[in-house]
Amino acid sequence: MNYFTNLLRLGFLVFVVSCSGDDSMTTTEDTDTTDITDETIVTGTLHAAFEDFSSDIEIVLLDDDTVSIETDGLPNHTSPYWSPTSDLYTAATVARVAHMSPGYIDDFEGTFALQVSTNPQKASRTTATSLGAIGIAVSGAVIYNQNEAGNIQITENVASGLDYNGAHTGPSSYHYHFEPTAFTDNDSNLVGVIADGFFLYGRKCYSTGGYPTDLDSSNGHTSVTQYNDDAEYHYHIGNTTIYNEYYVNFTGDYQGTPYRISGRN
Ligand SMILES: [Zn+2]
Ligand SMILES: [Zn+2]
Repeated sequence: MNYFTNLLRLGFLVFVVSCSGDDSMTTTEDTDTTDITDETIVTGTLHAAFEDFSSDIEIVLLDDDTVSIETDGLPNHTSPYWSPTSDLYTAATVARVAHMSPGYIDDFEGTFALQVSTNPQKASRTTATSLGAIGIAVSGAVIYNQNEAGNIQITENVASGLDYNGAHTGPSSYHYHFEPTAFTDNDSNLVGVIADGFFLYGRKCYSTGGYPTDLDSSNGHTSVTQYNDDAEYHYHIGNTTIYNEYYVNFTGDYQGTPYRISGRN
């Protein structure tokens, strides 16, 4: 019996995952001496931005370099896309109802999982986005680009059926195409994490308080944020509209290496 095992038999706790601040992200295990060989002690830290994600989202450090983000895809805010019996249901205007997509949010509970680096870097070449989830928002729902089936830009007719969060249902989830005003409305709030690990913010930047003027082709730039006093690369919702109304969340390309968000429901 070695010294370490002796310590455990004395009832010491092993902290498997530790992170700053939020207890909800800290996993503490009272280690049983019989399974010590299965434990991995992770000493990496989660980015402070993850503390502002919905507590319904499971965010776990898998190892020092990898964070796993898993959500059921259901948003934590109101929408006319919830079934009318839901506490979060809110009525849409009659004009919107006529164009709404089929299905309630409740119908699309699933599992959407993303794994990204704790320290994402720009890749040597960019990668185009594709249909489906390209990020996970702080609300628990997923982020899409501005395209629909056929990989063509969402039509004005379909867009007119989106809720006040620039979102609708189908084919496998409720999803945001445009600025989700439940949690970002012409401000610098955190929107979510994109599949390459970089964070997405609202139209304004914390670093200046205004609209950034140094954005690259992916609406990204490097500056301090409300979560990091050291400058780091991040994206913004672009401050230009389509159909004179909608601000696209992420037009891409990915500047980092994207992870394919797996989803099932
Ligand atoms: Zn859509
Ligand atoms: Zn910025």
